[in-house]
Parts: sequence; structure tokens; C-alpha cells
Amino acid sequence: MDAYEVDNLIITPEKQGAERFGTVSYPVRYGHFSEIRTPSHTFQCNLNGEIKVIEGRGNSWPHPAEWLKRTAGNDWVYYSAGDYKGIYDLLGEYYYPYLSYPSNSILSDNPFGSRAPKTAISSWTALQRRAGELLSRPLPEPVKTLLSRVAQSTPGVLRSKAAQLHRMIGGRVTVLPPDSRHVDYEMIPVTIAEGCLLNCGFCRVKSGRGFKALPRTEILEQMKHVKEVYGKDLRNYSAAFLGQHDALEAGRELVSFAAEKAYELFEFEHSNLKDPVLFLFGSPLSILSAKEGLFEALDSLPYSTTFINIGLEAADCATLKGLRRPVSVETVREAFSRMLDINRRYQKVEVTANFVFSDQFSPDHFASLLELTRNRLDPIRAKGAIYLSPVVDEQSLDDARRREILRRFYDLKIHSRLPAFLYLIQRL
Ligand code: SF4
Repeated sequence: MDAYEVDNLIITPEKQGAERFGTVSYPVRYGHFSEIRTPSHTFQCNLNGEIKVIEGRGNSWPHPAEWLKRTAGNDWVYYSAGDYKGIYDLLGEYYYPYLSYPSNSILSDNPFGSRAPKTAISSWTALQRRAGELLSRPLPEPVKTLLSRVAQSTPGVLRSKAAQLHRMIGGRVTVLPPDSRHVDYEMIPVTIAEGCLLNCGFCRVKSGRGFKALPRTEILEQMKHVKEVYGKDLRNYSAAFLGQHDALEAGRELVSFAAEKAYELFEFEHSNLKDPVLFLFGSPLSILSAKEGLFEALDSLPYSTTFINIGLEAADCATLKGLRRPVSVETVREAFSRMLDINRRYQKVEVTANFVFSDQFSPDHFASLLELTRNRLDPIRAKGAIYLSPVVDEQSLDDARRREILRRFYDLKIHSRLPAFLYLIQRL
């Protein structure tokens, strides 16, 4: 944790953040990283010397507890504290991640429209160039090593590493599971099956392809290449996402194989982060057809928890039809019952469900969600959250519609006997 002063920079080549992810009401960094402070910003790099977090300092930065984070997909996300009021109720976390690309957010602010994030990113680009110049000076070895890694991590290199990651896994991850908030969306993606069973008309994250599980050899090759992309920073990961939209349908043998290999090849046992976690998506059809042995196998894996998010989307006939989603109400209700059953029986497996909604959905939709999440449940169940995903084009929402969508969300939230949160669609 030694810090060195170089001109107006304070350089700390090695810093240690928290070793467990947590839901805390103050800014926190995870794993091991390096830091360079300038009079105007604090820049934090991952173990490859790639920029990961930027915090502004002084009056021109919107809030001392807010920061920018760059993802492995090379997107910037602005973490807003929202004065630590109300955000937890919405998302289950104490920050709101504003995205730098269009999504389904229903909050009107757009930090990326203001100067501070733009200045922060361009200040980093200038410092990244300066790192190369500083290398000609006599400097302590740890500082030189860091500056040399920073100098190599140009914006072009970061772009092409993200593109390489996307190529390896068969394309960008168009939507991350909502449960990945538990690890601050920090997980290594591996595609074990392409496409999905339903190809619903309304869906804007689908690949459009039919479901196809990948051969084991292809999955292993993919993991080896993905591992190379993460490089030295692999040590800062302890979570894997088995994609794409319905990995559960791949069945016990392939899911267990991929989960075990990810644990082994990504060296989660030696990660700087404790409590490895596994994430996957499932559908009403795949959860109903899954053999009990699949959940037994997941329960016995070395992961602390396996989160399976099931896209239930709607539970009434008219809405399912409007969404052009080819499943029946009975199937959705049975899938929901199976989710509750699995959550009761398996300690290390947590199944969550998501439903879509907006201000334009019919009262029957909301009544059917209440029927599932309230009327059929005993009071107070902490396991198995439900996520409500607004079906909106955020660019065309006005304030009145935003208020109405929030009102409907809170109405459901206060009546649901399962924890309920908004689902903000994030990509990787
Ligand atoms: S909602 Fe789920 S099942 Fe339907 S098309 Fe989208 S990803 Fe596939």
C-alpha cells in the first residue's frame, strides 16, 4: 500500500478493497487495484493497468460518494448515490447505475449529459498518455510496472479487448441477470447455449435464434480464451455467468460441467474475492422440465450460491398474448410454484423471477402478479426476489409517465410477500 509522489500525482501501485461483495450505504471498492490521484480526480486501475473507476474530487464533481466504472464490455456506468434515499427500495442496492447507452431506466436524470463524466474520461485519456512519457524517468520499480501497464492500455486496446471478449462468447451479453447486482455486475460470461425456446415478439434482448446447447469442447475453448482476455485481473473475479438466455435448458450434465470448469479454470478458489457465485437464466419451460438432479447438482457445487433468474414476464392471458409470448398462464403459475419449492428445498440455490410492466399494461396484469406474489404466499419470505422490468423506451418517457410507472411499481412492492425490485437492463 506504499504511495509515491511523482510531480502532482500520488501513485499507489497496490491497494486492497473489500474481499466480499456487500450491500452497503457508502462507496466501496472490491478486490485488488492500483490508484493514481491527480488534483482533480482519483483513477483506479485493475490488475492489467486498465482504467476501471474514476472519482472526481472537488466542487465540479456532482457528489463525493459517486463514481464512474468501466465494465469489461468497455461501457461506462455512473454510480449515483441518489443521496442514499429511495434507491435501495427501487433496486435493492444503495446506488443507481446510470448507463451510457439506451436501456429501460425510468429515472429522468442523465449524468452522461453533464460535463463532469466527460471531463473525467478525457482527463484519464490524457493521464494514460502521460504515463508513457513518465517511464523515461528514474522511478521506483512498482511505479514503473504500473505506468507501463497503464501506457499500454490505450482506449484502442480497451475497445479491441472488449470486442475480443464479445467474439469469444458469440456476441455481446445483451442483458445481465438482475441477481448479478449481488456482485456489482462483476462476473465472467461464458456462453453454454445460444438462443431461447420462446423467441417472444416483444423481447428486445433476444438473439432471435432457436435454442442450441454448445458442445463441451467449444465451451472449454471459449473459457480458455476468455481467461486470456481477463489476464492478471482474473484474480478479482469470483463469479461466472452461464449464458445466454436459457442456460437452464442445457440440463444437468452440461450446466454442472460448465460450472465446475469455470470454477477451476477461472481459479475462483484463489480469487481476491470470497464467496464465488454462479448466475444463469431459465424460462418457465426449462424450470418445469428440469430434473430434480439438476438442482441437487447445483446445490453441491463449490459456489456459495447459484442464482437462477426465470423470465416469467406475465401471468395473465391478455398480456401474454400482447407480448407475443407463447406460454400459457398455467405454465407460468406452475413455474412460479416450482421456483418457491426449489427455494425452500435447496440452501445454495436461489431462483428469482422477473415480470415486465409499464403504465400501459392492463389492471389484469397487476392483479395476476398480486395473485402470485401475495395471495398464494405465506407472509415474509426472504428467498426468491421478484424483479419488475419496465417495458419502455426511456427516451420517449415524460415525467407524468415516469411517475405513474413508479407508482405502479411501489404498489406491487408494498403488497408483494417476496422482495421486489426494479430490473434495469444492463449489457456487458
Ligand atoms: S423474453 Fe426471454 S424467452 Fe422471450 S425472447 Fe426474450 S430472452 Fe427469449
